[in-house]
Amino acid sequence: MEGVEMARSRMQKCLDCGSYSLSTTCKKCGGIAQAAGPLKFSPQDPQAKRRREYENVTDPKWVQKLPSPKGEEE
Ligand SMILES: [Zn+2]
Repeated sequence: MEGVEMARSRMQKCLDCGSYSLSTTCKKCGGIAQAAGPLKFSPQDPQAKRRREYENVTDPKWVQKLPSPKGEEE
């Protein structure tokens, strides 16, 4: 399936016949197409770990930069 990953953010997959298209309506059978899942993302992705390290997510300071979920500072 070369070429599919290239445009995967806009790629829709037909629920009926499984063919890919860029619209939510299948060009082949006219069925409903939905966005295909992200093909490469997974929690085990070594690249993801590298990206987290790159952004210092493991650093405790990074956590403090996040907005608190319940507005502690009110
Ligand atoms: Zn179809």
